[in-house]
Amino acid sequence: MSADRTDSSKGAPNPYRLLPSVDEALRIEGVQALAAEARHDLVASFVQTMLESWRGEIKRGELDAKGLEERLANGALVQAVERLLHEERGRGVVRAINATGVVLHTGLGRSPVHPEVAEAMRRAAESYCVLEVDRFSGQRNQRDDRLSELMRRLVGGEAGIAVNNNAGAAFLTMNTFAAGREAIVSRGELVEIGGSFRVPDVMARANVRLVEVGSTNRTRIADYERAMGPESGLLMKVHTSNFRVVGFTEEVDPADMARLGREHGVTTAWDLGSGLIETEDMVPLPENLDETDVRTAVASGIDVVTFSGDKLLGAPQAGLIVGENAAIAALRKNPIYRALRLDKVTLAGLEATLELVLAGRGDEIPARAMMHRGVSELTPLAHDLARSLTALAGVTAAVEPSRAQPGSGSAPTAFLESVAVRVEHERYSAEALGLALRAVDPPVFGRIQDDAVWLDVRTVSNSDAAGIAQAFAALA
Ligand SMILES: *Cc1c(COP(=O)(O)O)cnc(C)c1O
Repeated sequence: MSADRTDSSKGAPNPYRLLPSVDEALRIEGVQALAAEARHDLVASFVQTMLESWRGEIKRGELDAKGLEERLANGALVQAVERLLHEERGRGVVRAINATGVVLHTGLGRSPVHPEVAEAMRRAAESYCVLEVDRFSGQRNQRDDRLSELMRRLVGGEAGIAVNNNAGAAFLTMNTFAAGREAIVSRGELVEIGGSFRVPDVMARANVRLVEVGSTNRTRIADYERAMGPESGLLMKVHTSNFRVVGFTEEVDPADMARLGREHGVTTAWDLGSGLIETEDMVPLPENLDETDVRTAVASGIDVVTFSGDKLLGAPQAGLIVGENAAIAALRKNPIYRALRLDKVTLAGLEATLELVLAGRGDEIPARAMMHRGVSELTPLAHDLARSLTALAGVTAAVEPSRAQPGSGSAPTAFLESVAVRVEHERYSAEALGLALRAVDPPVFGRIQDDAVWLDVRTVSNSDAAGIAQAFAALA
């Protein structure tokens, strides 16, 4: 830096004078070519961004006239603008390859849906559809009448309703039954789910006064009973999705809570979170998942059970609510329901997912199928991938045992025995390789561990594996 300053004091050319204006830069051949194929205003704004960043470098003494001349001569501006254009095109919701081993990865869109579900969603999106009219009687009906019926058949209860996500379902439940009043919750269940969903904060926004009972590790039904009074609107149970309290613990039996609510005429609700739905013809998920399934929760007698669509159910993002008729009707009557209700595309996807389960094809749901994959199935895939990567210059790849996870706060202590390809690249550090793999199309997301990039194949399909090999080839 100090050398630069000495240079300029000796009367070296003023680098600011060499810096082209935006108009001049737009006339540079390579830049002109970019402007011709992309939006002109976008190219102009990227040129401006780059020139400003170079001006900053000059000001800080990091770029002198000679350096700037070199940059202009070797096409650095064209390359930089091209990179910004590439990044611009790759922003937003684009397809990605998930090699993290986290099946329900919130950052990567949680559950991919079954091809037939995707097809039902596409059909609903691109055309008119029967949404709020009964086509046989001509009467107006509710958009989720069919969904309600499917839920009832699958998990019991009298009726169902669906909103945008489970956070919305929990909010609607609190607000409907306890606005201006109290909701009683165990101290051990005042959870933060992530993405700023904290039970006490959501309650406050729902205009509900939180009454905490019990202690972090032990809460008994007598604690709820003592806290009940004329202001009680809701007895609530929240699944501790993303952590477990182990050791000296006691949780209230949901059936006891349901009984207590009925005795006092107070609504009971259970925010179940992951929403495991299993039928007899499905292969059960590993026992160590330790999740209460929706049917069992409903059978406990709790009035309202809420859960996510895109966690263990493997459906599109939604919050599903099942329970008894009067409670579901009350939720529907709340004006906030109108602000949280589902669009036709998601509804079509949910209906199609539940139909698959009812047809005995629940194990085909991608999230579930990925959780069921055994090491014997994953190992050959990992070896094929390792072989194709090793064939590339500068890449070393080895097959290693790995631990995958259900993800999204489902079963936080459960791991799925899995297989990964451990990759190193002679020209990249592990972090740099991880970043570079996200910059190619489609981006590849692995995990960094022990100075290498690990690509867990549990969440990788055969075509994804080909995509990963192409991504590495593109780095070269
Ligand atoms: C995941 C979860 C939520 C939030 O559900 P979203 O569908 O992500 O909005 C709320 N409560 C519990 C217990 C959860 O596990």
